Amino acid sequence: MSTILVTGGAGYIGSHTVHELNKNGFNVIVLDNFSEGHREFVDGLKTYEVDLCDVDGIGKVFEENKIDAVVHFAAFAYVGESVQNPQKYYYNNVVNTLNLLKVMLENDCKKIVFSSTCATYGEPKYMPLDEKHSQNPINPYGQTKLTIEKIFKDYDRAYGLKYYALRYFNAAGASTEKEIGEWHRVETHLIPLILQTLTGEREKITIFGEDYNTPDGTCIRDYVHVDDLASAHRLALQNLLAGAESEFINLGTGRGNSVKEIISSVERVTGRKVPTVIGARREGDPDILYASNEKAKKVLGWEVKYTNIDDIVKTAWAWEQKLHLKKSTN
Ligand code: UDP
Repeated sequence: MSTILVTGGAGYIGSHTVHELNKNGFNVIVLDNFSEGHREFVDGLKTYEVDLCDVDGIGKVFEENKIDAVVHFAAFAYVGESVQNPQKYYYNNVVNTLNLLKVMLENDCKKIVFSSTCATYGEPKYMPLDEKHSQNPINPYGQTKLTIEKIFKDYDRAYGLKYYALRYFNAAGASTEKEIGEWHRVETHLIPLILQTLTGEREKITIFGEDYNTPDGTCIRDYVHVDDLASAHRLALQNLLAGAESEFINLGTGRGNSVKEIISSVERVTGRKVPTVIGARREGDPDILYASNEKAKKVLGWEVKYTNIDDIVKTAWAWEQKLHLKKSTN
């Protein structure tokens, strides 16, 4: 049985991946500093409360366990905050990844699955976005992820580090088996924000611009279910453990939905009207973003289970109601 260290394993995509790996017979060890992660998401699992700025702390985890590979989620991921405070992002995302890699190499652990992002591409030049598209991130968050991708390339050449850098599009939805889901310190994402207008936590949702070059004027994004992301991480890990070479791979459904389509989906799923207001465009939002997932299908044998936006929204709504209850009883 392979032992896998999952950094950021108590976070949103991390916790779904932890459970996917656990279910598939991996021995999972979670490392999280719990700045964003939730202890209840990793109940019953071997967990280390360690911050990746602490090289000795990471070292201890590797001393106490024979780690075969790492899945590395731990990072800050608020685009706006990264513009306001890039130092925080470069230290936490880049420097801390260097710390992790240092300890991995010292312990002869040379396999890593990494959460990258479509934000590494920047302004899209064509659609669908494939892995060959140029990479010019337009915010520090995207820069940190691209910098790590470049570090991986050098470390592969020099030290034989093998990596799968998975570039996510818009993660959405929640597990139907476990009590885990999207639960951020500050919520900025479209689907939970819409749903929170229905739990009464927010008054309305602001549509950021309806003058984009799309059929209904609102931005189109590729919403991919978090359990589909989790299965892709498992497949990536299996490839690496079988001796595969390094890869960069997009993870999206290959289709997009507009902001207005997401609102309609929420209305269909919940049977309720969403209070909306039209606002200004948000800086740095391209009209349309969706993935080419041909490479993921070919290299990982990945199959997207959630191809219908209503099915994704249903799982997000089930979770949001549980979360609302949690928040109000705490
Ligand atoms: N969006 C919106 N109102 C909001 C939050 C997001 O209209 O309150 C739009 C945003 O402009 C983008 C889409 O919803 O087109 C998805 O945004 P989100 O922040 O969820 O993810 P991103 O694509 O930025 O990673």
